Amino acid sequence: MACKVYQGEASVRTTDRFQVLDVTNIVEEAVSKSGVTRGIASVYVPHTTCGITVNEAEPGLMRDIVEFLKEHTKPGAPWMHNRIDDNAHAHLGQSVLGHHASIPVADGRLYIGTWQRILLVEMDGPRRRRIIITVIGE
Ligand code: ZN
Repeated sequence: MACKVYQGEASVRTTDRFQVLDVTNIVEEAVSKSGVTRGIASVYVPHTTCGITVNEAEPGLMRDIVEFLKEHTKPGAPWMHNRIDDNAHAHLGQSVLGHHASIPVADGRLYIGTWQRILLVEMDGPRRRRIIITVIGE
């Protein structure tokens, strides 16, 4: 059996400073294009002020994630980075969330739980955000 490597890029445009976007369908599409039936999908954002997390796309929870991040990263607080840029909170939020997710692929689809979705968390929008998807497997 030969190992396949697929790499694709998608982009999304966020419309608010804080926003949680469900990007699962974009990743599913890449997995489908890759032809990989069993392996792993990596979802990566090449940015320092938005994050990736895997969780439930329930609208109330998506708002809770934003409120949680605001409460703990304190936008506008006298962080050192705010002396040169007004987004220290977003860098800190990304350090907590991370910038990628690795998801198993089985039967040519994402092998995720019933309630799991891949969420891009914007913390310094609105911006265009790139999503790099790499699928490796057989
Ligand atoms: Zn910055």
